[in-house]
Amino acid sequence: MARRNTYLTLSGLEPLVVTPESNFINVGERTNVTGSRKFLRLIKEEKYDEALDVARDQVEGGAQILDVNMDEGMLDGKYAMIKFLNLIASEPDIARIPIMIDSSKWDIIEAGLQVVQGKCVVNSISLKEGEDEFIRQAKLIKRYGAAVIVMAFDEVGQADTYQRRIDICKRSYDVLVNQVNFPPQDIIFDPNIFPVATGMDEHRLNALDFFKATKWIREHLPHANVSGGVSNVSFSFRGNTIVREAINSAFLYHAIQHGMTLGIVNPTLLEVYDEIPKDLLQHVEDVLFDRHEDATERLLDFAETVKGQKKEDDTKVLEWRNAPLQERITHALVKGIDAFIVEDVEEARVLSVKPIQVIEGHLMIGMNVVGDLFGSGKMFLPQVVKSARVMKKAVAYLQPFIEAEKDGKQAFAGKILMATVKGDVHDIGKNIVSVVLGCNNYEIIDLGVMVPPEKIIETAVKENVDVIGLSGLITPSLDEMVYLSKAMKKENLTIPLIIGGATTSKAHTSVKIAPHYNHTVVHINDASRAVTVVGNLLQKDNKAYKAQIREEYDKFREQFLTRGKRKEYISIDVARQRKYQIDWATSEIVKPKQLGIQVIDHFDLAQLEAYIDWSPFFRSWDLHGKFPDILNDSVVGQQAQDLFKDAQDLLKRILEEQLLKAKAIFGLFPANTINDDDIEVYDDNGNVQATFLTLRQQLKKRDGVPNIALADFIAPKTSGIQDYIGGFCVTTGFGTHELAEQFEAANDDYNSIMIKALADRLAEAFAEYLHEHVRKDVWAYALDEHLSNEELIKESYKGIRPAPGYPACPDHLEKTTLWRLLDVEEHIGVKLTESLAMWPAASVSGYYFGHPEAKYFGLGKITENQLKDYAKRRQISEDQARKWLNPNLAET
Ligand code: SAH
Repeated sequence: MARRNTYLTLSGLEPLVVTPESNFINVGERTNVTGSRKFLRLIKEEKYDEALDVARDQVEGGAQILDVNMDEGMLDGKYAMIKFLNLIASEPDIARIPIMIDSSKWDIIEAGLQVVQGKCVVNSISLKEGEDEFIRQAKLIKRYGAAVIVMAFDEVGQADTYQRRIDICKRSYDVLVNQVNFPPQDIIFDPNIFPVATGMDEHRLNALDFFKATKWIREHLPHANVSGGVSNVSFSFRGNTIVREAINSAFLYHAIQHGMTLGIVNPTLLEVYDEIPKDLLQHVEDVLFDRHEDATERLLDFAETVKGQKKEDDTKVLEWRNAPLQERITHALVKGIDAFIVEDVEEARVLSVKPIQVIEGHLMIGMNVVGDLFGSGKMFLPQVVKSARVMKKAVAYLQPFIEAEKDGKQAFAGKILMATVKGDVHDIGKNIVSVVLGCNNYEIIDLGVMVPPEKIIETAVKENVDVIGLSGLITPSLDEMVYLSKAMKKENLTIPLIIGGATTSKAHTSVKIAPHYNHTVVHINDASRAVTVVGNLLQKDNKAYKAQIREEYDKFREQFLTRGKRKEYISIDVARQRKYQIDWATSEIVKPKQLGIQVIDHFDLAQLEAYIDWSPFFRSWDLHGKFPDILNDSVVGQQAQDLFKDAQDLLKRILEEQLLKAKAIFGLFPANTINDDDIEVYDDNGNVQATFLTLRQQLKKRDGVPNIALADFIAPKTSGIQDYIGGFCVTTGFGTHELAEQFEAANDDYNSIMIKALADRLAEAFAEYLHEHVRKDVWAYALDEHLSNEELIKESYKGIRPAPGYPACPDHLEKTTLWRLLDVEEHIGVKLTESLAMWPAASVSGYYFGHPEAKYFGLGKITENQLKDYAKRRQISEDQARKWLNPNLAET
């Protein structure tokens, strides 16, 4: 009897012996319907010749084992497995190498075992369904003379720790060797390769535990081999090819060192280990071996720097171009790829009787898929906006043909008027909602920003719209909405109103708007809800829905108004006695190194990149989470990465071509507080050149808890101590509007919104940068401050820069004082609208307070008594004061 070989030996027409001298055995996996869409399509369409070409490519590409998987719901897997394996058997150049029969269904495996030629590997069995089934399958595999992959999986689940991995493998091994008499060299363990750098603590040991388990198996389970699917380890870096390749390669390298003998590796996602840049490798290995608490964060940070260098796998990307027409159109819409849409739409047009049918047919079929995916949370806003861009391009191409036909008018599901109200300039949210509704086949009439109420009403009537959507970001806009609802009532309009934007709320909508309009008013705070609400409003029988909304808002209002009454407030005089106390005698007040006004006319935007706070950027696209963690979020991570890449690309253009203009003005002045709440600002001669009016908290508080106003942070005139205050305005908004219009003209809403979102980010970054410059160099009270951007975002510095309109100083009228003091418009061109929004929108203004105890706070409710007092100080009517302060809703 021949001595039994103790090495794993497989064969196609030729043998494959896995000895200690063997190199890593690479399993080709393109002939797997779950991993390759192209292969799936070929099998589905019974194009077995072409499917064989895929197999041949794998062999020629160096695969040493061919993984064949036919597990797909729509396929007859057994039939496909048999047919494909039989065909391979007659292709000597393919049949040369052994087959891996890959299925989670035992009957497909067995069907394969019956026809396969040579000695194959079954992928896979496990203790998942208990020992009996495991033994039954193993016995059959042994009878068929095949080797087997055993997954580290038991009745409880997949092994995810070192101990579970080795325990399950040991148990499986013992059962196979002792009870089934399975040749140990024919056992290949797959101890589960899971992703690393996911941001979750429980995943930190995923690579290390795999390495350790592999080593243990090779040392303790004689003759058994170890295998795995490598690409999974880098799953959290989808989209960042460079980092992904580095992780895969480094992982593979160490896994082999620890004894992994074969595995599935996607060669297009592999970098040569030695060619991984040393710094990147260091970060990657720190993660694989869990060398630091924050190894993942460090790799993420580093990953950002290599992100732009993304490589593309062109062949894979373009595979979808071979699909049938409708699939291509749907794919382009879902993926937001506009490169081929005109070509595909033209093909559809030629095939259609009327061009309008391409919109109603092909394009709507695709957009419905988009709508379903978005509705079910599988697609996210940025992607939908990209889809809309493709749709627009397609429609724009078809338009002339439709017009030439004259009789085809597009059938929309409804007509919606969208507008940012008078005095307000913010439209990112409104534009996103418009795009998303447009995707759902509504005709959108977008009147833009700063739209007077008369124009909204006139257009609504003339165009006979079905819904009016109002948007606003700043508090005075709330009043505009109230005004508009009253005007609509006067005109006897019955059109439903939807309300959205940062300061809008269900409270304001139910308390201040709904009572003035006899018809439906709904507050909406995200784009996906807009689709549902509009859908409900526009269904034929919408009476019940409208009644339900009204009831909901009536109830909400009632609850809101009674809830508000429970809190106790004190009079403004008592509140003043309870001011925040600073010991001025011992406070060190630094005189600014340079007093007076300075203008920055041209500022290099590139310096701002490092100061950007990205989290609000993702929020503006409805992706919620902290940057950079959001990039690895298990739900929105991929979307965040894609969005971030697009943002980086556009930002790069902005910086390189200086597409936006950054300007700033700031000034530092002597100042003192008078009458508790007012801050006097002095000129060189000690004359008052401006007075800032602050508002004070009036909520009744526990003893020892002060009622704060910003004025408390400036030394009172009565102290005899000279204090200081600053004011500033920065903008990065010049150029935004023009660029956005260019993008819109090119039907590219995605980038039109993107440019605005980026301009906003740059403006905030500029404010951050300038504040640092002031603290360190101009006021120069923070000479030894050294803060990272993260610390800046957390505002870990000394001093604050409150912004009018924000909680500590909600009165936008303060901006008029600031504008006069600094001559903002004259110097840098930033204007105030009638509602005191800044134009261009990407602008930030505020005060500088330098005292170390200065802090942000919320004003809470303003009582009638303070309102009266304030109107007097401001010299405006009480009604005006009410408009600017929105007192009753300040708590929401
Ligand atoms: N990093 C953020 C900063 C903007 S929001 C971004 O890039 O978007 C924070 C700013 O709002 C602060 O810097 C300050 O200017 C202002 N702010 C925050 N809280 C405030 C408050 N309670 N009162 C007045 N201004 C406030």
